[in-house]
Amino acid sequence: MHEMSLAQGVLQIIEDHAMKERFTRVTSVWLEIGALSGVEPEAMRFCFDAVMRGTVAQGAKLEIIDVPGSGWCMQCGETVALPQRDSACPRCQGYQIQPTRGMEMRVKELEVG
Ligand SMILES: [Zn+2]
Repeated sequence: MHEMSLAQGVLQIIEDHAMKERFTRVTSVWLEIGALSGVEPEAMRFCFDAVMRGTVAQGAKLEIIDVPGSGWCMQCGETVALPQRDSACPRCQGYQIQPTRGMEMRVKELEVG
């Protein structure tokens, strides 16, 4: 499950912030998950709770923000919705689409207490 290592990456970000900003407890974590990132939100929730145990973010609430995917269709010459990485263009049904949004997962905000 690659969500486990991703959750560890999230913890790393949280601990870096905790060190820099000198807080000792995180109450909520807002995580943006792109539709094309390959990250399963449910798996991420499960791994998040496991990884945060015993850290500054123990018991923190995980708020997942879904970021829809979109891409640049070379045939249409415009940006189109891309629900999945291998989706066809909704306009021309073609597959020459360069994903432009929704590939990432990132920590958007931390609420500290
Ligand atoms: Zn197209």
